[in-house]
Amino acid sequence: MTTLSIPTRVAVITGGARGIGRAIAEWFLRHDHQVALLDIDHTTLDRTVIELARPAHVLGIHCDVSDPAQVARAAAEVIARFGRVDALVNNAGVAVFKPVLETSFEDWRTVLATNLDGAFLCTQAFGAVMAQAGRGAVVNIASISGLRASTLRVAYGTSKAALIHLTKQYAVELGNAGVRCNVIAPGPVETEMAKLVHSVAIRSDYVDTIPLGRYGTTEEMASTVGFLCSDDASFINGQVLAVDGGFDAAGVGLP
Ligand code: NAD
Repeated sequence: MTTLSIPTRVAVITGGARGIGRAIAEWFLRHDHQVALLDIDHTTLDRTVIELARPAHVLGIHCDVSDPAQVARAAAEVIARFGRVDALVNNAGVAVFKPVLETSFEDWRTVLATNLDGAFLCTQAFGAVMAQAGRGAVVNIASISGLRASTLRVAYGTSKAALIHLTKQYAVELGNAGVRCNVIAPGPVETEMAKLVHSVAIRSDYVDTIPLGRYGTTEEMASTVGFLCSDDASFINGQVLAVDGGFDAAGVGLP
């Protein structure tokens, strides 16, 4: 008789209900992890947990990562269910693309709350668990919009630039406790978010200026995150890795 063993390692992925976050969850499930998915979109999260079809390995938690109380509850739920955390991926994000003078304070706060406060709160909560264990990895999902300034992205680009710096701050302090923190800066990826904010003009400019001539895939982001969380990356800490088909190297402006 074959016994199906339960993987021991545990990855926590915010914004895991769809898009890049879901692909990251699938990568970890294929690579011997249990996963906890935190998402504000209850309906999509519940559907994704069912579709992943691994009830013993997947925990879906309804959580707004910008709310300290909800993040604390989520951390307690993960520990109660799995008893450990090996990797945290701060992937939850929202985008508002508007000219700087048309960006309201509410737009600004919405974007900063999820993209920056969320990563801060989750790294505090889950980083503490990993630091206590003396091992673990955090990967934050920034963007090429955090590497250089451009039109339309005052809130989004600022949140991602700050997230890159936040990663380095954590890398310096949590590194002392054996927890590595890195950040990826994806180029454009075909997801619901891209559908929402990439106009036809932005799309065609991206394809023209990215040396590889196309959008990235969610799987390409997931395998990079998986590598950074794995023991193969055991001496990589505090780094920002552009996963962008060569866009940053080409040095052209964002569309
Ligand atoms: P998406 O909109 O498809 O998925 C984002 C997920 O985050 C959704 O499931 C959403 O419900 C969840 N979420 C949003 N706010 C939340 C909150 N407050 N609490 C918990 N969950 C929340 O987007 P995506 O394209 O998969 O983006 C994932 C990450 O990648 C984001 O951080 C995004 O900024 C970044 N990114 C995306 C692209 C791209 O072109 N798609 C490029 C660069 C970076």
